[in-house]
Parts: sequence; structure tokens; C-alpha cells
Amino acid sequence: MQSKGIDNMKNILVTRSSMPTLDEYIDEIKDIWETHWLTNMGTKHKELQKKLLEYLGVEQIDLFTNGHMALELSLQAMNLPKNSEVITTPFTFASTTHAIVRNGLEPVFCDINPIDFTMDVTKIEGLITDKTSAIMPVHVYGNVCNVEEIQRIADKYGLKVIYDAAHTFGVRYKDKGIASFGDVSCFSFHATKVFNSVEGGAACFKSDDFGLDLYRLKNFGIRGPEIVDGVGANAKMNEFCAAMGLCNLRHVDEEIAKRKKVVERYNERLFGIDGIQLNPIQENVKPNYAYYPVIFEEKTFGSSRNEVFEALAEEGIGARKYFYPLTNTFDCFHGKYDPSLTPVALHISKRVLTLPLYADLALEDVDRICDTVLKCKE
Ligand SMILES: *Cc1c(COP(=O)(O)O)cnc(C)c1O
Repeated sequence: MQSKGIDNMKNILVTRSSMPTLDEYIDEIKDIWETHWLTNMGTKHKELQKKLLEYLGVEQIDLFTNGHMALELSLQAMNLPKNSEVITTPFTFASTTHAIVRNGLEPVFCDINPIDFTMDVTKIEGLITDKTSAIMPVHVYGNVCNVEEIQRIADKYGLKVIYDAAHTFGVRYKDKGIASFGDVSCFSFHATKVFNSVEGGAACFKSDDFGLDLYRLKNFGIRGPEIVDGVGANAKMNEFCAAMGLCNLRHVDEEIAKRKKVVERYNERLFGIDGIQLNPIQENVKPNYAYYPVIFEEKTFGSSRNEVFEALAEEGIGARKYFYPLTNTFDCFHGKYDPSLTPVALHISKRVLTLPLYADLALEDVDRICDTVLKCKE
């Protein structure tokens, strides 16, 4: 008798990791029991590398323990001058900014555009000084940055471009894999991302020399059995994670297609509502439906972002203030950066909520989420 009520009240998390069946995973890891080769670039690592190269349509790829290490070590392998400036966005996950700071480089925050929340390319040139060495943009929510304009600026001033592509697995722009742009692009295969290897990451690049430097940074600086000529870390992807990646890769297109259905249902329910801004559809982009951000304008919507967040929480629905706070306001930086210099990012971060989105989210649950959101307008 109560089961219906309980069903209706079931909690909805903001995300749910994609997994193969247990049988498929067991099948994939069986060889590991024969070889006893658990890590250090074994057959699973090599196979995943090869399959991803094809799937992502890139020239070269290396795999890492996680997306952050791919990003941090890619930046290190660039050998940028110490204390030089890297132009980046504060509207991102902590990882992007931390990768810069942990390399002894200085983040310089560029504002975002209010349409797709990527770096506002009209503001980049004004931030360039004689200390600028690189640009580190983020394809945030899976939205593609203005890659042409960023490359034009980089070429004009001799800057490197490192893309944080953590949100853009499988995205294509003008029929090219998203990681074909810039000097290097880094993906995250974290459990919460569109494609996961439990934890994992990849860097995609074009230069052989860069690839060799990067490889040594993920493997203690070891060049050969008796030669260690770099001060490297350890960021190798192990065989169990690579096996999970191999399984999930077989289903990722299906997963993205299911995400698309969820996003379409959200759009049907929320498009055209006064006070709500949705994520745009970008031209020439094959999207991956990674996130469902909604911007709530209190004056016209009638409720603030925080009120909607609370209303959803009361219904057992987990939304996320993603990205809030901005990275240039983090406590660890002790007020070093002035967020009023990135006013659009500040504005959006106070109003944004990402709603639950994953392949197996039922359309009835999307309806329940939308009902709860729309009730805040009454
Ligand atoms: C997830 C994420 C990362 C870091 O990836 P991990 O695999 O969790 O280390 C970096 N940047 C952005 C924007 C992310 O969302």
C-alpha cells in the first residue's frame, strides 16, 4: 500500500556511474589472472590506448591514473617558464586552476561568455602580458570553446594551448575529434563522467617529443632500464581501470544516445520558461550531453537558485551548484584574485544549478524533477 508513495519519493542522485554487466567485466579481466600483469602499461592499457585513439580521432594519446594528473603533467611537460602566466577560466572544477598553481605558474582569470559559459575570447588579448606563456580553456559542460579564435590568438603571441576537455568525451567539432585542437587536450575518465574507467584520464597531443616527456613524467622519469633522466611522478593507469574503460567504451555511444533522450525531455519541459536559461545547442558540434545546467534569474523566475536547490533537496533530488564557488574565490588562495574582474562568471556561478543527468535516468524522474523546479515559480 505504501510502496507507491515510497517509489515516488525515491532519491535521485545528480549522477550515476555507467557500468558494464558484472559478467562482461569478469570476462575482460580474466586474462589478468593468467599474466599476473597488474599495471605498468600492460595489454589492457595498450588496447584501451589504441581503441581510444580511434574513437576520439586523435593523433596520439597517453593514459593516466586520473584526469587531473593528465592535466598537471601535460602542463609540466610544456616546460613553460617558471612563474609565467597562464590565461584560464575560473568557471571550472578545482583541478584546472590547481594544475596551474601546482606547476609554479600564475593563473590569470579570463571571464566567460554568458551563452555557453566557455572563455570569452574577446577578453583574452587584453590579459596578455610579456609573462604570458599559455592559455588553458575548458570545454565546460561539454560546450566547445571558440577553438579557432583561441588558436589565432595563441599563434599571434606564441602561446601554448592546453584544453581541459574533461567534460567533452566523444564530442566532435566540424567533424573532428574535440582533442584535435590546441597543443594538448586532457580528458577525465572519473566515475562521474560520460565515459569512465573508475578513475582515469588521458592526454591527446601531436608532438612526439612532448609525448616522450609526458610519458616519463607519468613513470618516475625512467627512460630505460638503467637511465632515469627526469624527475617524474607516478600516474600510470592500472590494468583493472583500463579493463573497465574497455568495457564502458563498447557502450558509450548507447549511453550518449540515452543521455540525449533525457536532455530532450528536460528541454521540452523547461524551454521558454521565464527566468530560466538553458544550455545552448552549438553549431557544427556533435554533443555528448554531459551536464544539464540551468540558470535561474530570481527576478523573473520568482525563486533563487538556492531556493530551487533546497526545494529539490526536500524531494530527495540531488542537484549540484556546479560551478560554485568560482576557483578564483577559493579559500586556499586567500583573496589573491579578484572575482569582480570576472563578472559574468560570478553572475552565472551564483545562479547555476546542474540537474541530475545520466543514461539510465527515467523520463518519469525527469518529469518529477521538472515539476519540482516549476513549482518554485508559482
Ligand atoms: C573531473 C574534472 C577534472 C579532473 O578529473 P579527475 O579525473 O577527477 O582527476 C578536471 N577538470 C574538470 C573540468 C573536471 O570536471
